Amino acid sequence: MSNFTYATDTGSPVHPVSALDYLPLPELRALQLHRLRYIVAYAYERVPLFRRRCDQRGVRPEHIRTLADIRLLPFSMKSDLRDEYPLGLQAAPMEEVVRFQCSSGTTGKPIVIPNTWNDIEVWKNGVMRCLAMGGVTPHDIVQVAYGYGLFTGGLGLHYGAEGYGCAVLPISGGNTDRQLMLMKDLGVTTIACTPSYFLHIIDEGHKKGIDFRKEMKLRHGFFGAEPWTEEMRGKIEEYTGLVAHDIYGLTEIAGPGVGGDCCHRTGLHIFEDHFYPEIIDPETLEPLPDGEQGELVFTTLDRTGCPMIRYRTRDLTRIEATPCPCGRTVRRIARINARSDDMLIVHGVNLFPSQVESGLLKVPEVLPHYQIVVTPTGALDTLEVKVEIAPDALAAGEAARAGVQRHVAAAVKSVTGLSATITLVEPHTLPRSEGKIRRVVDLRREKAV
Ligand code: ADP
Ligand code: ZN
Repeated sequence: MSNFTYATDTGSPVHPVSALDYLPLPELRALQLHRLRYIVAYAYERVPLFRRRCDQRGVRPEHIRTLADIRLLPFSMKSDLRDEYPLGLQAAPMEEVVRFQCSSGTTGKPIVIPNTWNDIEVWKNGVMRCLAMGGVTPHDIVQVAYGYGLFTGGLGLHYGAEGYGCAVLPISGGNTDRQLMLMKDLGVTTIACTPSYFLHIIDEGHKKGIDFRKEMKLRHGFFGAEPWTEEMRGKIEEYTGLVAHDIYGLTEIAGPGVGGDCCHRTGLHIFEDHFYPEIIDPETLEPLPDGEQGELVFTTLDRTGCPMIRYRTRDLTRIEATPCPCGRTVRRIARINARSDDMLIVHGVNLFPSQVESGLLKVPEVLPHYQIVVTPTGALDTLEVKVEIAPDALAAGEAARAGVQRHVAAAVKSVTGLSATITLVEPHTLPRSEGKIRRVVDLRREKAV
C-alpha cells in the first residue's frame, strides 16, 4: 500500500490510509462488484427478511453479475430495523459481534446495529480517511466532543483519530466550561462535534471573553451528524480561524466517516469501496442519473454484522460524478441540507430547515439554534419559528427584543417567502438529543398518525 503513487493536486504523497480514494475507476468498480456479490450472497443466506424479499422478486444472488444489477435487489428502510427490533437483521453469529450502536432517533423504538470487529475496522477506516483528507496529522490533538455511547459520533471519531495516531481527548458532549478549559490548556488543534454544539462552545467562550483565534490552537473542526449550511461554516471559521470540515454518516451504514469533504469543498467524497451509493426518486423508487437530486441509498459492501442492502437513508442529495481537483476517484454527494422527513410544505411552498437557518444567520441578535413548528389551524396552517436569542440581545430589554423579532420575521420571509410567527427563547433552551436539535415539529403529521 505504501507504494501508491497517485498524484494529488498538492503533489504531496498520499497517506496510505487514503490509497483507495485514488483507485483507478475500473479497479474500483471491479472491487465493488466483487464485494457486492459476496455481501448479497452472505445476506441472502443469513437474513430471512432479505431472502424473503429476494424470493418474492425471483432474484437470487447469482443474478448479480454487474454493478447495475444492484437495482434488481429490494430496498431496506429504517422501519425494517424497527419491525425486526432488536436484532432481526443481524447476520453474523453473536460470537463475532463486538459492539451494539443505536441510532439517535428520538421517536419510536431505537434501532440497534450489531457490529463485528471487521465492521468497526471499516468504520474506523472511513473516519481516518476523513481526517487524512482534512490534513490532520498524528501531531494533532483531537477533542472528541460528540456524545460517547450508543450514539455513533463519539466512538466513531475516537477510534478513527486514535487509529490515525492523533492524541485523543475523549471528553464527550456537555460541560462546556471544561471543554473550553481543556481545549486551551492542552492546546487542542482539532475539535469534532455537531456544528450546533460547537457554536454553543463558541458562544460560551465569547461570554468568558475568550478570543479563539488568539488563545486557542484550533486548526481543524470535523462537524456533522446534522445538516449545516455554508453560512454556518463561514461563521465558525471566522470566529475561530479553524478549517471546518464536513463529515457525514449514519448508524445504519457505520456511523460518521461514510464520507467527508476535501479541501476543494466540492461535496462529500463517499468511501464507496465500503459504502456503495445510489440516488433514487423517492416516489417512483427508480434510480436517478448522476447529478439529479433524490434520496440517497447505500449498500454496505463489506460489513457483516448487519449488512444493509439498498438502505434508504431519507437524506436528499445528488451524486457529483465530475472529477474533483483533488484527484480522488471516489464519487461525491452534494452536501446534505435536508432529510426528506424534514421537508415541509407550508401554504403550498416547499420549505427546508436550511433555508430558515440561512435567514437566521443574517440576524446577529439570534443564534442559529431553531425549531420550526407547523400547526394546523382551520384552513391555513400556522408557521412558527422558535429561535434562541443571543445573550446580549436578551439583556437588552423588551423593546429591543420586539425589534429582533421583526428582523427575524423579515429575514425568514426573504429566504422562504413565508410569514412566520417568531418566538424568541432563551439560549440553550431548545431541547437537544445528542447535541442535535429536532428542526421540524409538524403537528399536522403528528395529528394524522
Ligand atoms: P438519526 O437518524 O437517529 O439521527 P444518526 O445519529 O445515525 O441517526 O444520524 C444520521 C443522520 O444524521 C443522517 O442520516 C443525516 O440525516 C444526518 N447527518 C449526519 N451527518 C451529516 C452531515 N454532515 N450533514 C448533514 N446531515 C448529516
Ligand atoms: Zn476532492
